[in-house]
Amino acid sequence: MKVIVVGATHGGYEAVEALQSIYPDAEVQWYEKGDIDPLVVGNSKNDAEKDIHSIRGMSLEEMKQCGIYVFDNTEITKVEPDKHQVEVLSHVTGKTWRETYDKIILSPGAHPSLQSVPGNDLKNIGTMSNRQDIVRMKKHSEDPAIKNVVVVGAGHIGIGAAQVFSEAGKNVTVVDINDRPLSRYLDKELTDILQQELTDRNATLALDNIVTAFVGDDHGRVTEVVTKKGTYPADLVIMSIGNRPNTAWLEGAVELLPDGLIKTDEYLRTSEPDVFAIGDATTVQYNPGQTTMSIALATNARRQARYAVRNLEEAKHPFPGVQGSSAMQAFGYKFATTGLTEKIARRLGIQIKSVYWEQDTLITHSFSTDNKTHVMFKLIYDPKTLEILGGQIMSEEDMTAHIHAISIAIQAHFTVEQLAYADFFFQPGLNTPWNVLNMAGLKALQQENRA
Ligand SMILES: Cc1cc2nc3c(=O)[nH]c(=O)nc-3n(C[C@H](O)[C@H](O)[C@H](O)COP(=O)(O)OP(=O)(O)OC[C@H]3O[C@@H](n4cnc5c(N)ncnc54)[C@H](O)[C@@H]3O)c2cc1C
Repeated sequence: MKVIVVGATHGGYEAVEALQSIYPDAEVQWYEKGDIDPLVVGNSKNDAEKDIHSIRGMSLEEMKQCGIYVFDNTEITKVEPDKHQVEVLSHVTGKTWRETYDKIILSPGAHPSLQSVPGNDLKNIGTMSNRQDIVRMKKHSEDPAIKNVVVVGAGHIGIGAAQVFSEAGKNVTVVDINDRPLSRYLDKELTDILQQELTDRNATLALDNIVTAFVGDDHGRVTEVVTKKGTYPADLVIMSIGNRPNTAWLEGAVELLPDGLIKTDEYLRTSEPDVFAIGDATTVQYNPGQTTMSIALATNARRQARYAVRNLEEAKHPFPGVQGSSAMQAFGYKFATTGLTEKIARRLGIQIKSVYWEQDTLITHSFSTDNKTHVMFKLIYDPKTLEILGGQIMSEEDMTAHIHAISIAIQAHFTVEQLAYADFFFQPGLNTPWNVLNMAGLKALQQENRA
């Protein structure tokens, strides 16, 4: 069997690894139109010094030894499903050719959107999509000529950028169309705290607002960001307002949804036989919302990749869906979220109820109560069935792993009663007799007069 994999980050890499373990005799051709990020492939499986950031550890050399043909700086420009054929363009030689396939897995990902307003092509307006962008951001943060930074979009990436520049002593302004930062991930109880942290660190929050233009100087460099509510000085603008799928080249080849995402079924098959698609260019089954939606996460791309490969020869393994779990640390807090928030529930028209619970939890090996940390937790559930639909946790110490339990609880249709009495350990210094998750479950039962 000859399999072509398109895209060489999370989805593409995982597909290649899965192919290698499930179909070791398959001929695999792996295409990436840019450079292959050295952090995507590892140095060596046996190298103890391996960069901890490398995703798995299979080096390009090891891949080649396993019979995987790796083509970097080589773009697939067209898929012709009826002929089981692709068109290939080498960006190194300019040469084009055709390759046939038995199966093809598309993981072309997405690119950051730029707001279509006057001045959006000025210098020093950038986006964050790959490692080079992160390296560039670090350089900018050390550049004394950059004093004013405007971040447009207060999601994970925008807030991450705001933190970097705020710590570097820049004047940071965060503009967002929503009235709260991180509003897709956390509810108001928690974003209020982060919002306060941002303002305490002298960041300006321009929320419930939109950018209408960028203004530049004679050298074509951005100097100001004009918004509906005011104008902000800017030597650098970071745009993080969302993504658009890299699928223009697939038009007419496979069915695309109105927003350009590739339409797939529960087996990761596209509209065309033997063409599979995964990752940020697709939608994913979102269990708590009982719907499919775009959730751009590496975790989703990787799980989809495994399922695409498992379904390659026979559609036997429906994708189990995700809860959209994510985590982050910013401004002294570590937080994680899974499933529905109030905002997502409203958008999907789903009735929810919630409880918000705060407690001190012991986090060190000491019996001293000085070593407690304060943890804040919000539980979302279905008011009719009492099934758990979401959870958010935040504290200064790392309590984010609790969210794994809530993610599984959502997937397993656990109720608040099951959570209230779930068997979580007690050990002085490590956990309280009733874990914060138990407590939220108990509180929800009380709220429902079912305690
Ligand atoms: C700054 C940042 C931080 C993030 N942090 C996290 C995190 O902490 N946790 C998490 O879960 N997710 C995180 N994400 C999201 C995660 O990176 C993406 O969800 C993931 O990379 C998606 O993988 P993908 O394979 O679908 O696509 P992409 O990563 O977008 O990769 C697609 C690849 O395909 C190539 N390609 C496209 N078209 C073609 C073609 N025609 N021919 C050849 N090659 C092609 C592209 O050049 C690209 O390299 C982060 C994203 C960003 C931008």
